[in-house]
Amino acid sequence: MTLVTPRVRRCARSGIRRGVYETPAKGAKIDLPMKQQPYILVVNGTKVRRPVFVLGAPHSGVNLIAQALRRTPGFHLGSITPGVLNAVYAIARRPSLAEENASGTATLLRDAFAEAWQLTPLTCPRCPTKRVPARKAAEPCRHAREVTRFGDASPDLLYCAKALSTAFEDAVFVQIIRDGRDVTADMLSDDHSLTWFRPSLANLDHELPNPFFGIETESERADYQGLSTAAKCAMRWRGAVRLSAQLHGVLDPRQLMTLRYEDLAGGEVEAAERLREFTGTRVSAKDLVRSKSPDIGSWRSRLTTEQCSDVKSVARVELSRLGYL
Ligand SMILES: [Zn+2]
Repeated sequence: MTLVTPRVRRCARSGIRRGVYETPAKGAKIDLPMKQQPYILVVNGTKVRRPVFVLGAPHSGVNLIAQALRRTPGFHLGSITPGVLNAVYAIARRPSLAEENASGTATLLRDAFAEAWQLTPLTCPRCPTKRVPARKAAEPCRHAREVTRFGDASPDLLYCAKALSTAFEDAVFVQIIRDGRDVTADMLSDDHSLTWFRPSLANLDHELPNPFFGIETESERADYQGLSTAAKCAMRWRGAVRLSAQLHGVLDPRQLMTLRYEDLAGGEVEAAERLREFTGTRVSAKDLVRSKSPDIGSWRSRLTTEQCSDVKSVARVELSRLGYL
């Protein structure tokens, strides 16, 4: 059977671009998902293989996993650059972007990470001095050749996880889940988290569902500005854990690993072993030991009765489904 060059057409129902292959002899058609253009991404002279992305709701332990990965030899976790942030927020504000233009979104993400993963004397945390001649400032530093694996860790990556799996077909994802009441207590004491709720930044005109704010329906959008800050924090957590649950239906089990923040306490050795098996990176259990205080269950003393009630009214189903209630 001879296949000819595919014509590209858009599926009327899903909007997904598909390649239609025709056999001229019998006129039979085989409708196949449109394969991405092959790509090879080389950063610092190293081919990017199986990048690791760590995801989770804000204050759910992403930084803890990031710290452990960052300390393994040869692993480079990029620092958040404006390019990465712009790409992530563009997709978070308009999730349909990634489906309407999968190829363009994949290129946008790969370009952003290729820049973020570059190790130059100016960006490398191990290079002692930032005073370098201009001609060397953009070149890979002496540590760049030691990097064998790449990754990124930011709660906001959750909003573009599906697009990341399209951009990097061999990517693996580690997501971490934490009790939404502790998350809310932490968000309420974090100025950066609260910044998002300022009227000047909380633009609710974007398409629904809006996973960033956790708003799914028109009625939730209409009521949103009247919610307490604790309820808004709980909605962000709820939106994040719903996305996390959806990822199980999107990603192959070999691509997705889920950790529970509460299980890490006293379970560092098991978690490190699971991370090693899953990512192929030798994570040290001692790097998973938390120094954070207050910690598990601290919501009991940090949330008022009213705030607890607000959190439950927004996220009771998810708290219950995850075993926290
Ligand atoms: Zn360096």
